[in-house]
Amino acid sequence: MREHEELARRMRRLFDEYGVTVYEFLGGPGSGKTSLIERLVELMLRTTEPDRIAYVGGDVATAFDGERLARYGVRVVQVNTGGTCHLKVPHLEEAIRALGGREVLREVDVMFVENVGNLICPFVFPLGAHARVMVVSVAEGEDKFLKHPMSVRASDVIVISKVDLAEAVGVSVERMVRDAKTINPRAPVVVTSAKTGYGIDELYSVLARFRRG
Ligand code: MG
Ligand code: ZN
Repeated sequence: MREHEELARRMRRLFDEYGVTVYEFLGGPGSGKTSLIERLVELMLRTTEPDRIAYVGGDVATAFDGERLARYGVRVVQVNTGGTCHLKVPHLEEAIRALGGREVLREVDVMFVENVGNLICPFVFPLGAHARVMVVSVAEGEDKFLKHPMSVRASDVIVISKVDLAEAVGVSVERMVRDAKTINPRAPVVVTSAKTGYGIDELYSVLARFRRG
């Protein structure tokens, strides 16, 4: 574990040196990570050139998420972990090489890293991101935060997604917010719907607090 943390610290120093703010999105499969990143990229494109934004998507297989982001003209790298259920620092280093190498990072302001859909081990392997964003959809059940307290504690921002479905799945969003805040009082909790756009502005400004340079 020490070794992972040291590698993550090294990545953070690299990102700081090259002026890239890195947001890592973590959450279960189907929690809506990609859709949230799409909405945030849309907002960011109002003030930022597409080639100053990078997306690194980790999936066990397929390049579907990367294809979705590529439509915005941003720099996209899809990392297939080939069975591994989380990204590790070497995957991120491989992604930076695929972007064109470290020097390309000077031309990038923001990097979105979407981890493999999994609520457990991605939280144990830090990648050096400036903000780790945990995404849990209302459809995953009201008690999800209570079941994954370590992941909640390892996060800097907590997002409750797909709130447009809350009534249909009979979930109390208030209770989810309360649970998240109780387990990790340090992290802001943002309630969102990528479908209706609810909470996306708020999430955008919360993430802006982590911006470097
Ligand atoms: Mg995805
Ligand atoms: Zn794993």
